Amino acid sequence: MIWDPYYECMDPEERTKLQVRRLRETVARLNVNVPWYRDRFAEKGIEPGDIKSLDDLRHLPFTTKDDLRETYPLGLFAVPPEECVRIHASSGTTGKPIIAGYTRDDITNVWAETIARTIACGGGTSHDVLHNAYGYGLFTGGLGLHYGGELMGCLVIPASGGNTERQLMLMEDLGSTILCCTPSYALTIADVAENIGFDLSRIKLKSGLFGAEPWSDSARESIEERLGLSAHDIYGLTEVIGPGVAGECEAKAGLHVYDDHFIPEVIDPDSGEPLPPGEKGELVLTCITKRAFPIIRFRTRDITRLDYETCACGRTQPRMERITGRTDDMLIIRGVNVFPSQIEEVLLRIEEVEPHYQLVLTREGHLDNLEVQVEVSPAMFSDEVRKLEAIEDRIRERLSSALGIRVGVKLVEPRSIERSIGKAKRVIDKREEV
Ligand code: ADP
Ligand code: ZN
Repeated sequence: MIWDPYYECMDPEERTKLQVRRLRETVARLNVNVPWYRDRFAEKGIEPGDIKSLDDLRHLPFTTKDDLRETYPLGLFAVPPEECVRIHASSGTTGKPIIAGYTRDDITNVWAETIARTIACGGGTSHDVLHNAYGYGLFTGGLGLHYGGELMGCLVIPASGGNTERQLMLMEDLGSTILCCTPSYALTIADVAENIGFDLSRIKLKSGLFGAEPWSDSARESIEERLGLSAHDIYGLTEVIGPGVAGECEAKAGLHVYDDHFIPEVIDPDSGEPLPPGEKGELVLTCITKRAFPIIRFRTRDITRLDYETCACGRTQPRMERITGRTDDMLIIRGVNVFPSQIEEVLLRIEEVEPHYQLVLTREGHLDNLEVQVEVSPAMFSDEVRKLEAIEDRIRERLSSALGIRVGVKLVEPRSIERSIGKAKRVIDKREEV
């Protein structure tokens, strides 16, 4: 089923006209309501009326995660906070999160709508029981899928993350047909079922909507085989809206970008120049329908390419290839974005350690573990073990509260972490492909 054939199968030329009109309106609104954008447009000598074709998008300024940090918390909002009905947040590059706001219209007419499209892409209809194991809270995954599922008319089970045995029980007892969670959690569910001897044929899942972190074709095969469902990739990010930016249809030949709401571009990350269709580069997204927080040319740092050919499913919206990497050092650990700079910031405030550290990533089952190895200062090194353990505990506590996930901490001897010439190798990734 196609949720909204009018927009999803629109003649591409018609859609381009719609995009240009919506883009011009958005730029005009930002020009009036957001001083930060007004200044950026003025610097580039852009008037909203100058936007006459999609090609003019390239003249607009980029917005980066750093810009969001500088304007924290609500500096890029295009409406007063009292017009918003919801806030979500995601990790920024340092301590402060990125705050996203939504008006009622953003939630119902943009977000729930694009999520309903995503669910339909994954084979869902109003008859489905949608088991939503994405985390509920500031993270966009839980509530994002939730409202789209309800709009579609699914029976939504707001399971949130954790307590896998109970999740299995609920899926069996309530007859869940669609599973929504990160791909690594889908594999964990399969593992737990195996460990406790739960026969997976007791649940009747037919499809899964998996995203928020990179995954591979072999992970897809494994999930499909073990859980007996059709696995679909879904993509999104807090800065743009959350999940619901793009979703994979039954053709599984890329994720349809809902470009009547979010215009995608692929640029050369070094020069910032747009690349021709089909070339691989950094994905840049522009919101053209949101009211509260419409971001212009957001540099996602995600690497992909776009395909504008009409899909076998009949949708004309362009498809982005599965994300194959990032242009920065952001790590995604159990679905949470983590930047090495956040860890460094915490370590620098702890007197007893040196700013020499290494992040070791391992995978236990299907879940990622992060261990922070940091050198103690020579003066501390001779100290008694108990004291060192207390330091480890303190670092662990501070890191966990700064990052929002549990991490391991190990103090190591002075000068035991290899010094490098040039860019330090901070991350040692021992995880195999999911
Ligand atoms: P958080 O997960 O910390 O709340 P976001 O939702 O903003 O933060 O995370 C967005 C990022 O997650 C994207 O920029 C991308 O790197 C990654 N991501 C989301 N969906 C996928 C996907 N389907 N495949 C690969 N990476 C994804
Ligand atoms: Zn398709």
